Amino acid sequence: MSKKDIEREAANLRRSGKLDPSRIVKESPEEELRALGQETRTERAFAAAAECAYCARERREKNDGTALCREHLAEAMGL
Ligand SMILES: [Zn+2]
Repeated sequence: MSKKDIEREAANLRRSGKLDPSRIVKESPEEELRALGQETRTERAFAAAAECAYCARERREKNDGTALCREHLAEAMGL
């Protein structure tokens, strides 16, 4: 991905309203895009976790409605 592509992508995301500049203030389009990518990954991890039996077990065992299994926790953290 070239710098131009990244800038264009960031501009698209900003226009689409997915990027809230007041919330995510980044130095560069690259940073912006990376933050947004992580946000998407986190959302996806939580969506997958809702269907995941291991996550369900973690939630039950820890009595914590937001608990995640190791795999989805890693995904949510961007590891
Ligand atoms: Zn899981």
